[in-house]
Amino acid sequence: MSLGFGRTYLAIPGPSVMPDRVLNAMHQPAPNIYAGPLHDLVDRIVPQLKALAGTRQHLAIYIANGHGAWEAANANVFSRGDQALSLVTGQFGIGWADSVRRMGVEVQEIDFGRRTPVDPARVAEALAADKAHGIKAVLLTHVDTATSVRNDVAALRAAIDDTGHPALLMVDCIASLGCDPFLMDDWGVDVMVAASQKGLMTPPGLGFVWFSDKALKTCRNADLRTPYWDWTPRAAPQLFHQRFGGTAPTHHLLGLGEALQMIDEEGLPAVWARHDRLARAVWAAVDGWGTEGRITLNIADPAHRSRAVTSIRMQAPDATALRNWTEAKAGVTLGIGLGMAPMDDPAWHGFFRIGHMGHVNAHMVMGVLGGIEAGLTALGIPRGEIALGAAAAIIAEA
Ligand SMILES: *Cc1c(COP(=O)(O)O)cnc(C)c1O
Repeated sequence: MSLGFGRTYLAIPGPSVMPDRVLNAMHQPAPNIYAGPLHDLVDRIVPQLKALAGTRQHLAIYIANGHGAWEAANANVFSRGDQALSLVTGQFGIGWADSVRRMGVEVQEIDFGRRTPVDPARVAEALAADKAHGIKAVLLTHVDTATSVRNDVAALRAAIDDTGHPALLMVDCIASLGCDPFLMDDWGVDVMVAASQKGLMTPPGLGFVWFSDKALKTCRNADLRTPYWDWTPRAAPQLFHQRFGGTAPTHHLLGLGEALQMIDEEGLPAVWARHDRLARAVWAAVDGWGTEGRITLNIADPAHRSRAVTSIRMQAPDATALRNWTEAKAGVTLGIGLGMAPMDDPAWHGFFRIGHMGHVNAHMVMGVLGGIEAGLTALGIPRGEIALGAAAAIIAEA
């Protein structure tokens, strides 16, 4: 007998839960790509995506996942032999740096560990040391989904500006867009990368690159740019098909259009507030279990925690046992630990993550927490008692 039957919850940090409205919007015959409703839909989606990112500047859309969006951004910014400064706070920072390096760019990496955010002062030091201004761009992950750290983009921009260094600021918002506030223009971000399958509640397959006037100008001669990845025709198409470099991703657009409509109906500030409240409920529960047990939040400072995903540390192999239990017995699939230990190291089994991004509400979060608590009990893992009550108290706040 299992209590996992019923509606399951894929509580991993992407792909996220897809709303029925998104699924239904996609359940349609192929639309005409030459004229009609699909064109109207794209005319609506583009300004919605710019508003979501907090920009009035440029947007290119790609048929790609996050890795593809990274590569799209890289191709438009860099020439072979250029230099980049990559700021690492988890596995995804490493991944982006790797992608740039393999395209022929010389990457200098500063690693801030797995439990703390970027220190803007150290970045300023590195830029000040670059007297010749060889570094073309600084690469930052807003929220590193592996560690669940959230970096302060505005503070980093200020530190870069204080050095007088002209480097572009490129930011990966794949995990945070539509969950944590992001204000591309206000924060002085030059290139911003996201994808469809996290806060945007749409299947994996759409990648987005927003870019500033400055990035457009600086990168006019980037020699890594190839016809398919070139952001220029996509951002300012003369013909509809140029926006997508060919046939439009019809059904992804139908789904995304509905998801953006849902965000508009709720209101972006309310979407952010919901993620904040639900994240705080998760943190309260984990802190509650941690008083007696062997469970801790990976990021100690609440000011630097993601509101979309929470990375949790336990003693190995407790985390794997717990994930297996909740999936089999409670219908809740938790995220694996990513990049906190090598996968063939026994310590790997001491980490897990809870995704609380996108189409998630109070009962889902209380459900995932209840499932975890039941699992801890069933497995005899020591824990504090006040966790669910503490989470409920956050949900109940006026
Ligand atoms: C999910 C994610 C990626 C990778 O996206 P894919 O669609 O898996 O290629 C990159 N960066 C961050 C911060 C992510 O959360």
